[in-house]
Amino acid sequence: MRHVSALKKLCRFCQTIRRGKNVFVYCKVNARHKQKQGWVSSYYYCYYLNNSKTLI
Ligand SMILES: [Zn+2]
Repeated sequence: MRHVSALKKLCRFCQTIRRGKNVFVYCKVNARHKQKQGWVSSYYYCYYLNNSKTLI
């Protein structure tokens, strides 16, 4: 699951799912298209972004 600040559909099978204040992109064809948004907007997330090359 990739955490992003802005969700983007990467293919026509990608679906946007809104669950509470969290928004996901779920793809049934390519699992690498899965994205998550909503827990960002914190200083710690910026720290995490700057110190990790590989986002899972
Ligand atoms: Zn997709």
